[in-house]
Amino acid sequence: MIIDCHGHYTTSPRQHEGWRNEQIEAHKAGKPPPPRPMITDDEIRETIVGGQLKVQRERGTDLTIFSPRAAGMGHHLGDATTSEAWASACNELIHRVCSLFPQNFVGVAMLPQSARVSPRNCIPEIDRCVGGYGFVGVNLNPDPSGGHWQDPPLGDRYWYPVYEKMVEHDIPAMIHVSASCNPTHHTTGSHYLNGDTAGFNQLMNSSVFKDFPAIKFIIPHGGGAVPYHWGRYRGLAQDAKLGLLSDLVLNNIFFDTCVYHLPGQELLAKVIPVDNILFASEMIGAVRGVDPETGHHYDDTKRYIDQLPLSAADKAKIFEGNARRVYGRLSRVIDK
Ligand SMILES: [Zn+2]
Repeated sequence: MIIDCHGHYTTSPRQHEGWRNEQIEAHKAGKPPPPRPMITDDEIRETIVGGQLKVQRERGTDLTIFSPRAAGMGHHLGDATTSEAWASACNELIHRVCSLFPQNFVGVAMLPQSARVSPRNCIPEIDRCVGGYGFVGVNLNPDPSGGHWQDPPLGDRYWYPVYEKMVEHDIPAMIHVSASCNPTHHTTGSHYLNGDTAGFNQLMNSSVFKDFPAIKFIIPHGGGAVPYHWGRYRGLAQDAKLGLLSDLVLNNIFFDTCVYHLPGQELLAKVIPVDNILFASEMIGAVRGVDPETGHHYDDTKRYIDQLPLSAADKAKIFEGNARRVYGRLSRVIDK
C-alpha cells in the first residue's frame, strides 16, 4: 500500500472559497457572515474524481492523508471567531470527501488558530475532528500571523494544550504554515520552507520531547533546510550541550518526501534514517508543472523514491509502514 501523508483539498468547490471571501469582507464591515453555501455530494465527487483521485490512479498511490488547503487556512485574516467558523467549514468538507471516498482519503484537521490567541481554543475542534470525523492528525501552524512570527516558539508552554490533546488522541501534527501576508516571504517559495526549518529548530531547542515523550511531528517539504544542514544542527546541539541530535529528535520528528527532484530525495534518504521518512507528494499543490529534464511532474515524488538505492523493505517503510506508526489511529481507520 502506498500512503501519501501530505495532500490538501486544493480543488474544493468554488463556492467554498467564495464564502470565505464573503466571511472576511463581512468581518471587515462589522457584519455577520452570510449563511454557508450549499455544496452537493456530486459537486464534491466531481472535484475529486477529476483531481486528486485521478492523480492517485495515474501515479499508482493508494491513500492520501488529506487536509484543507494550507495556504487557504489564512490564520492571519479575521479573528478567532472567523478562524473557528472557517476551520469548522473546511474540516467538514474534508470529512465529506473522506466519507465519499473512504478507500482513498483519510482526514487531517486544520486548526482555528489566530495570531496571539492561545491555541487552547483549538481543543474543541481537535476533539470534534478526531472523535466525530475519525481524523488521524492535525496541521499546526507555528506562525498564525502569516510571516510576521508574533507567537512564542513551539517549545513554549503556550502550545502545550495542543500537545496534551495530540498525546491523548494519539495523533501527530504536521508543522505547516499558511499563506504569507509579508511580501518579503513568498508563500510556497520561502514561507513554507522557513516554517519547516524554524519549527524543527524551535522543537530541538525545547523540552517538548522530555515533557511529551510520545508526541510526534511531521516536518513537511522534506524538512525545509534541515536535512541539507544536518551537520549544522548536530553542531548546534553539541555546542549547546543538548546531546546527540539523533537522540534528541528522532523519536519524535519525521520528515516527508515533498522534495521535487531526485538529488534532493537522495540527500534526504542519505541523511535521515529510513524510519523517519514518510512518503508524500502534496499533490495537487504548490508546484504543478512538468520538469523538462525528466518529462514528469515535479511533484510525482513516487518516481524519485522508486529510484533510490534502498531495499524493498526500506521502501515499504517509507511508503506505508512509517505512516501507520506515526499516525497512531491510521491502521484502525484503514481496517474499517
Ligand atoms: Zn502542504
